[in-house]
Amino acid sequence: MTSAGRFAPSPSGELHVGNLRTAILAWLFAKSSGRKFLLRVEDLDRARSGAEAGQLRDLQAVGVSWEDAVVRQTERAELYAAAIKRLSAEGRTYECFCTRREIQEAPSAPHAPQGAYPGTCRRLSHAEREIRRATRPASIRLRSEVSEWGVEDQLHGQYVGVVDDFVLRRNDGVTAYNLAVVVDDAAQGIDQVVRGDDLLPSTPRQAYLATLLGLQIPEYAHVPLVVNHDGVRLAKRDGAVTLGDLAAVGIPAERVRDLILESLDLPDGSVQDALPHFTPKNVPKEPWVWKTPRA
Ligand code: GLU
Repeated sequence: MTSAGRFAPSPSGELHVGNLRTAILAWLFAKSSGRKFLLRVEDLDRARSGAEAGQLRDLQAVGVSWEDAVVRQTERAELYAAAIKRLSAEGRTYECFCTRREIQEAPSAPHAPQGAYPGTCRRLSHAEREIRRATRPASIRLRSEVSEWGVEDQLHGQYVGVVDDFVLRRNDGVTAYNLAVVVDDAAQGIDQVVRGDDLLPSTPRQAYLATLLGLQIPEYAHVPLVVNHDGVRLAKRDGAVTLGDLAAVGIPAERVRDLILESLDLPDGSVQDALPHFTPKNVPKEPWVWKTPRA
């Protein structure tokens, strides 16, 4: 299989400047390393009707193009089920009946990092599990054998983070992001993952899971986010931050693309023209502070 990079938006609404900058970076990383570039719509959760079409249109408007058909996670349930089945057959999963509240209120295991699942249901007896099954549908958790795992990131270097007994399938039957992303990246031949650095803390879990499933660990690059003037991750409430909002105040998509390229110290005009000037090591390490430009 040829190697590939990707952009994997969640179709929960319109893409904003931060998402578009990450997409342009993912495209530049992939193309500058001779990879294909693929698009995967992560619609397992939070999908809003009509959002996908708008996102694809906006990506094209800033010059991001992709090869092959768009992949949608909602069409891949069998792949995820097969991965969970395999892990379960190896004794690597267990049912969890905890509510969010129970997890918050449980005393954390000694030495467990903050936020890690305390392992309550890992120790249930067969009989206890039978009783709990009658009260609440179970989620499926990974029976992790490690508490942390290291990954290598092109921007962050060696990064070691928490691996707890994370959820593989939620109790409403929806596959969890951490499982779907690992299965999809491998199945699509994606060996380069470029995404916002808010996802760096999830990456050790994903790399550990890939190892358990015998899958290749992709190359990672977690890129800085775009932030508002308070240094907080850009969001819809920060004013004109989507191509739609910006067009309404007289700023066309081409101008947004140019601002993004300039923020990366690249020549503007088109992503194609910027490509020969792109070097991963020159990607700015600091977040980019977005200021809505004057029309
Ligand atoms: N769908 C995720 C998001 O939009 C990105 C996941 C990923 O790139 O691995 O935040």
